[in-house]
Amino acid sequence: MNPMPDLCIRMLIGCHLSSSHGFMSMLRTAQSIGANVFQFYTRNPRGSAAKPIDAQDAADFVRCQREGQIGPIVAHAPYTLNACSDDPSKRAFAKRTMADDLERMESVPHNFYNLHPGSHMGQGLAVGVEQIAAMLNEVLKPEHTTVVLLETMAGKGREVGSRFAELKQIIDRVELGDRLGICFDTCHTWDSGYDIAEHLDDVLREFDQVLGIERLRVVHLNDSLNVKASHKDRHAKIGEGALGSEAIVRLINHPALHHLPFILETPNELEGYSREIAWLCEQWQD
Ligand code: FE
Ligand code: FE
Ligand code: ZN
Repeated sequence: MNPMPDLCIRMLIGCHLSSSHGFMSMLRTAQSIGANVFQFYTRNPRGSAAKPIDAQDAADFVRCQREGQIGPIVAHAPYTLNACSDDPSKRAFAKRTMADDLERMESVPHNFYNLHPGSHMGQGLAVGVEQIAAMLNEVLKPEHTTVVLLETMAGKGREVGSRFAELKQIIDRVELGDRLGICFDTCHTWDSGYDIAEHLDDVLREFDQVLGIERLRVVHLNDSLNVKASHKDRHAKIGEGALGSEAIVRLINHPALHHLPFILETPNELEGYSREIAWLCEQWQD
């Protein structure tokens, strides 16, 4: 029996939502804008104490997810977490926060947790990779059901993870590496220098050769305000950036991506997201 009958014939599409009113509230918001997946921050950007999870809210959500009312969800770590900071207290903070987030995620098991690998702050890429892997080795537990995603980065400043090979170096150092996946951010990969507008096939072939295409679990679907290899990380609305609508349509219909959850992180309010979702669903070929 298929647990998610409607989702299998539909594009998995949604956007980033505010988590301030809990899981069921996000589910209802998602449904109101035509989304069947969504993303949220686990806590505010400063990463201060997260609100306690409402057990009833989480249980209700899990039931709805089992019934197929909603697809997989992505918890995004606070973007300020830095596993490879040159400040040991910030590294300790990142570890504590992620460990706590992963415990909390078990209230909605079998979903995704998305992490920016980090910024090495001048320590060098090799040190950055080691420190990120060290944190993952401490926080990942065999009993966790959450798949942790490393996000492809734009290469702003000293960001680690803007090249596929850097993500591979991290994964190779993690004992529970089979729990790791990749979130492919289309704005970031473009800003990092991968030509996903004109040479998507080549980029995905390279991804497969370096990381293995089965690692690719979620797409952050964003246009970019800037030219390829700008290393800027400024998202644009779908079709209004340097990627453009035709490249976006090729992306969502590429056989390697077509079935994945697509999460919009475009500069929009709910109404704008709803319009983008409707347009993308029209372009998506089943
Ligand atoms: Fe992100
Ligand atoms: Fe992203
Ligand atoms: Zn970004």
